[in-house]
Formats: sequence, C-alpha cells, structure tokens
Amino acid sequence: MLFLSKFPFKTLKSAPKISDNKSTSYLLQAWFVRQEMAWVYNYLPFWLKVLENIKNIVREELTAIWATEVLMASLSNKESWEKTKRWDSVDVLFKLMWAWDKEYWLNPTHEEVVTPLMWEFINSYKDLENMSVFQFQTKFRNEKRAKSWVLRWREFLMKDLYSFHKNQQDLDIYFDEVKGAYENIFKRLWIWEDTLYAFASGGAFSKYSYEFQTKLWIWEDNIYVCLDCKQAHNDEIVENPFKCVNCQSWKYEIVKTSEVWNIFKLGTKFSNSFDLSYTDENNKKQEIVMWCYGIGISRLMWVIAEYFMDEKWLIWPESIAPASHYIIVIWDHLDKALELAKKLESEWKEVIIDDREKIWFGQKAWDCDLIWIPNRIVVSDKTIENWWYEFKKRNSNDTIIKSF
Ligand SMILES: [Zn+2]
Repeated sequence: MLFLSKFPFKTLKSAPKISDNKSTSYLLQAWFVRQEMAWVYNYLPFWLKVLENIKNIVREELTAIWATEVLMASLSNKESWEKTKRWDSVDVLFKLMWAWDKEYWLNPTHEEVVTPLMWEFINSYKDLENMSVFQFQTKFRNEKRAKSWVLRWREFLMKDLYSFHKNQQDLDIYFDEVKGAYENIFKRLWIWEDTLYAFASGGAFSKYSYEFQTKLWIWEDNIYVCLDCKQAHNDEIVENPFKCVNCQSWKYEIVKTSEVWNIFKLGTKFSNSFDLSYTDENNKKQEIVMWCYGIGISRLMWVIAEYFMDEKWLIWPESIAPASHYIIVIWDHLDKALELAKKLESEWKEVIIDDREKIWFGQKAWDCDLIWIPNRIVVSDKTIENWWYEFKKRNSNDTIIKSF
C-alpha cells in the first residue's frame, strides 16, 4: 500500500497546455510524467505502475505460449552490425565512441544481439521444438524528424519477441499462437474492439509485415479498410487506386489509427549472417527461419491514455489502473483505514491511502478522481461512529454505505 503522506509528488491545479494532445496535459497534471527533453519523459510512480501492469499482462500471455523472458544489453558492438551490413545502412543509430578506438551502438532493435546469443543453444532440430525469447528493453533511435509527439520517440520501451524455426510451416503455427496471445493482451487492455489487424510494407525482408492498429482520430496512420472483407491495409502498401490484398475489392474507407504492435518476417537473413543453423533428423545442416514480434509498450501506454480519456479526465481500464482502491482518511482514523487496506490487500487489491495532513477532503477527492482510481473509500468521524465507511465507484455518482 502507498501512503500519500510519504509521497513526494503533487498534482497541478490545472492541466498545462503544452501540446495538441490532451492526454499529455492530463498526465502532467495528475503526477504521472515529467518531460526531460523533446520526446523523452521521466516516469513518476503512477505511470510506472501503469507500465508494470501492462508488462504483467503481456508477460502472462507470452509465457502462456512458452516464450521465455530475457533481458539483453542496450549496447552492442560494431562487429555484429557489420556482419548484417546494417552499421552504415540504418540511419537512426545512436553510435558511441568508447575508449577512443572502439565504436558501439545503443540498440534500436536486437536481432544482432539475440542471434549470436542463441547460437550457443541451438544445434539440432530438437532444440527448435520451442525456441522463442522476449524482453522488455529500452530502445534508442536517433530520429532527426519529429513528426508527431509520440511517433518519433528517441528513447522508448519495447517488448520484442524473437522466434526461431526449422521451416515456414513451424513458423506459421507459432505465428498464430502469438497472434492469439496478442488478441488476449488487447482484450485485457480493453482496446480490442477498436484494434485492426493490418497489412503493412515488409521492408527489406518480405513483401508484407503485419500490424495491430488502434483507432484514434488524432493519430498518425491512415488505414484503408476494405468494405467487402474488412481487411485493413497500412497506407504504405496502398497504391492508387486501392485494391484489397485479400479479396481484390476496390471499395474502402479510411480510418485514423496508431500502431500498437508489428511483426517482421526476418527470414534467414540474421541466422545466416551469424551462421546459426541446425542439423536435421538426417544429420544435415539446415537454415533457421526467424521472426520478430514487437509491442511498443511506452507507445501503447500513451495510446491507452488518449483512447480512454474524456473531456475532463484520464480514464484507465481497471486492469491497469495505478491502484484499485483509494482510501481517504479524515482526521485520525488511520488505524481503521489500515485495517481495511490490509483486508483489501489480502484479496489482491492495490490500495492508496490518502493520509495527508492539512489537506482538505475536497482536494483528496479531486486527486483521487484525477489519477482515476476505480474505487474510492472515505473513512471519517461520521462513518467510524456508525461502524461503516463510504464507498464510491469512480464512474458512478452514487455513494454506498458499507460496514467494516
Ligand atoms: Zn477485401
């Protein structure tokens, strides 16, 4: 449980007008974030809590399909990137000089790290029965162009999952499992209804990549949705005139969205660059096929903030709110509040106790509303006397009386 009397941050009286995105203003007002510089934010405790809640949902769903969590280094060496011929070809790199004669790179993605890492553990076809690893790691991109406040982040948190397969058939089976896991993630984050599965340009390695795009009217991508089969297409792959890649229809509508995850078919490019292969049942050397599945976790947080907010407040899905209960303590009834908080914690609820002195009730109730904690409890003289407390759901105007 968290005691606000010991909490070093304060909410702001009004939302600062700093950008065209209201959610950023709300996040600044409600003690969630502070800006370090353009496109770089410091996370305060409640934003960190939302982040951890999202990570836990993602972790649970990926572990359920037998992906294993690792944490790879942020720095990687020049030799690995030269092997894949990306040292000079990727233009968004943060390159670092170290000890005068050695160059390093702050990783914008981890293929050059994960492939040599797994080299030690993959030898035979038996090792590829179930071979996928994922991580939550900060990525760096030296973006020159700042197109949108959230799109072009220079430092951001990604969940990247890499899978290794004997052949395309195995990969297709695993692809469907990951897709299913991601559907569950978006359902648990309450954005599934407005999230589209879209085809996008495949870049260097394949004809198409795949994305989930969440509908948001202010954001960066125009998605073309086929009116006949509902297949979504990123505008990168729509040549004039539109023609559906699935059913060849010419009829479409344009929907504004923000990308929340993508998948890249890496094929054999990275495995071959690092001589990662396996021996089959006949002891013959074979190529390994790799895929990469990303979720921009920090981007997803901003998408969720923007998606759920209303004219006045941030609103969180209960599954990721910074806490489930906020107990307002009036006068010296902390012991009673504690008793209640312990009971809630034994039921796996997370509790904030507003025990700040010299802060009037109205301010405490306002702060509770501002950070949007789903359940509010008031413990005061009046309620203690009668052996009950006030309980109010955040999205309801009714106060319920409950007994201890
Ligand atoms: Zn179609």
